[in-house]
Amino acid sequence: MNLIALAVPFFLLALLIELVADRLKNTGYYRSNDAINSLSAGILSETTGYFTKLVQFTIWGLVLGHLALFEWQRSWFDASLSGIMLWVLAAVLWDFCYYWNHRLGHEVSILWAAHAVHHQSEEYNLSTALRQTSSSFIFSWIFYVPLFLIGIPAEVLVTVAAVNLIYQFWVHTRFVNRLGVLDRIFVTPSNHRVHHAQNKRYIDKNYGGIFVLWDRMFGTFAEEADSDPVIFGVRKPLANWNPVWANFQVYSYLLFDSIRTKRWQDKIAVWFRRTGWRPADMQAAYPKESTDLKIFEKFDPPISVARRRYVMAQFVVVVALALSIAEGFASKGANAVLVPCLLLWAQLYTLGLLNENRPYAVNFELLRLVVITPIGFLAFVGAEWNLPPAIGIIIPIYIVVSAVWVKKSEFVPERSGSH
Ligand SMILES: [Zn+2]
Ligand SMILES: [Zn+2]
Repeated sequence: MNLIALAVPFFLLALLIELVADRLKNTGYYRSNDAINSLSAGILSETTGYFTKLVQFTIWGLVLGHLALFEWQRSWFDASLSGIMLWVLAAVLWDFCYYWNHRLGHEVSILWAAHAVHHQSEEYNLSTALRQTSSSFIFSWIFYVPLFLIGIPAEVLVTVAAVNLIYQFWVHTRFVNRLGVLDRIFVTPSNHRVHHAQNKRYIDKNYGGIFVLWDRMFGTFAEEADSDPVIFGVRKPLANWNPVWANFQVYSYLLFDSIRTKRWQDKIAVWFRRTGWRPADMQAAYPKESTDLKIFEKFDPPISVARRRYVMAQFVVVVALALSIAEGFASKGANAVLVPCLLLWAQLYTLGLLNENRPYAVNFELLRLVVITPIGFLAFVGAEWNLPPAIGIIIPIYIVVSAVWVKKSEFVPERSGSH
């Protein structure tokens, strides 16, 4: 049972409701370019996960099968007291491991390179919740190995992990205010807003997944203060709408320093020291300052209204494609979805370029439509996806209409700022 897949329709519905509330109340919590970028990062994370998650499941399976210290007598839920205790214990221990995974994800450079993706949005809404990294598969699993080592059954752990992740969805909203005593026990919208802030007093605070009690225990708790409204985002902004680059940006900074710094000790230290640390020679030669929050401006390149509408319409195609790929992965496995995933990733990339208003964006989009899309769909047919016969007409119409539309949207911006 894949709980996260079951939750997706509810995520999308909640997101639409929040979007409508934003429009009705005119709160300005959503910008289409930002939301599309966050959702693109989420889709990229989910679809790359089809190929990368095997690493963690294999290792966890080996630990449980060969190294587990205890054998727990039950594998699935039973209503006895000890049955319930097992689930509660597993959920609490998972959250404890999550706290350390998340905390070191902020405090150690190489781990921050993976986790930063979740924090790059300069808005805060339910789309931010779905903004996930594609490279956590490299290290994140390590933090949960102790739970497999003590032999808690895999199905229990995988289920509490999914519940933990699903819980964190709802806290990414500005529509829920403080919740009194709940803010001091659980992770809530208020204390998770603090976690997404770049204000000095809020940095490296509130790492919990479900319980914020860990933060209070280990000294990383901070309350949201009216006197210091949260400014969302990271101190070295992404300033880009490309979801692939979003996943490489911090790694690229570390690689740059690691290659150019003189001392070999520093070449290694760059990756493993506290986030933000740089070798002295690099800081001197290539100074990099954090954003001055007094003059902070959100990344929001102006584009024409026609372009914005085009990107939004194409994003509906992205969501449909992503959902059918998810279905294909569930029924056919990872090999069958590789080509469709390449099609999808190409589209996420070009939509980012269009939102950035890059001079070559339209040509890249035309290349995607006219060359990549037909080749991709031929590969689909070759892989016996049993597509409906009408697809033979729908695809050419889609290509022609899109090509004409994107070409027409090429003109000078009609106004600055896009919402
Ligand atoms: Zn975080
Ligand atoms: Zn978050």
